[in-house]
Amino acid sequence: MTAIIDTPPPGDALSNGICGLQSDERLRLRTLDRYQVLDSQPEPQFDRIVTLAKRALRVPIALISLVDEERQWFKARDGLSVDQTPRSLAFCDHAIRRREVMVVEDAQLDPRFQDNPLVTGEPGIRFYAGAPLITHDGQALGTVCVIDLVPRSFDAADQETLTDLAAIVMDELELRLANRELAVLAQTDPLTGALNRRTFFSLSEREMGRRRRTGCDIAVLVLDIDHFKKVNDTYGHNVGDRVLAQFAGQIGQTIRVQDVFARIGGEEFGLILPDTSVAKALKTADRLRRVVEQTPVQVENGTLQVTVSLGVTSILSGETSIEPALRRADQALYRAKHCGRNRVISA
Ligand code: GH3
Ligand code: MG
Ligand code: MG
Repeated sequence: MTAIIDTPPPGDALSNGICGLQSDERLRLRTLDRYQVLDSQPEPQFDRIVTLAKRALRVPIALISLVDEERQWFKARDGLSVDQTPRSLAFCDHAIRRREVMVVEDAQLDPRFQDNPLVTGEPGIRFYAGAPLITHDGQALGTVCVIDLVPRSFDAADQETLTDLAAIVMDELELRLANRELAVLAQTDPLTGALNRRTFFSLSEREMGRRRRTGCDIAVLVLDIDHFKKVNDTYGHNVGDRVLAQFAGQIGQTIRVQDVFARIGGEEFGLILPDTSVAKALKTADRLRRVVEQTPVQVENGTLQVTVSLGVTSILSGETSIEPALRRADQALYRAKHCGRNRVISA
């Protein structure tokens, strides 16, 4: 007998449940997230586009709609007073499943929409046309759409206008994303993904400024991989690089979002822990030490064990830059090396 595994059709409770959210939709939502546009403030670049859409296409309502997990949210709107609606009511949720403009000439005659409260009640939608906002890698984030309260037709030239407006919106979103990604790249060490040395010092100034205003504690740590030269000498520089990257990844996953973790030298890293006393920092440091000790690094023919030594200190009253604390942390680190490595020492 053949076993048949019954896959639930898309859209039912199971496939849309929290764990079962369809993977295409998950990818789409992750992509939408990357553009960091949801719940942002209104901006003239986008407001201008809906105003232009309204005028060029002679309609009372034009929107830039982004389709989130449970809602559609309007980045720009002209002619409508609400800034979001439930996704279940969104015409745009249908439009994003297509690659071209979706036109509903009369919603009262369309079985998909005739019972929709936005059609039967306020604002009384009759006509809808939406052009999908498609990213360079093919994900549909939402639409530029126009709405009328009377039925109407939408010719090929109108569709082309709407498609062009959607392309302008997408160009703007792509440009912003590219700029943000460039900024991140400029702050990051390419091998390890940790912040680079320059960013470490510029963020240290930000934290010192916050300390001047609030008097908060700041802990400063220096981490240095033990006997790293031996790793290079024994396994080669490529494996050494892999160890560095994995080490930084482990630390990155163990610290908090507000902590500043940077590669400040070859196999030496700096860590700033805002709002953290030395006592708490020592606990964190020991946790990091153990994570490194207990996580083997995968190499070609087996695994490899590395350890790390850490020097810990905090910013003292009267200090205006991170340098003195870094020197103290370095001295503590030197003692940790001297006492046998794989340990934490405070100064
Ligand atoms: P200690 O326990 O005293 O820290 O010993 P160590 O061998 O780790 O320290 P040492 O300063 O003698 O050597 C550090 C080594 O790190 C030497 C250098 O070649 C290596 N290194 C620095 N940057 C990189 C890198 O980007 N990739 C690789 N693979 N190695 C690097
Ligand atoms: Mg070292
Ligand atoms: Mg070193």
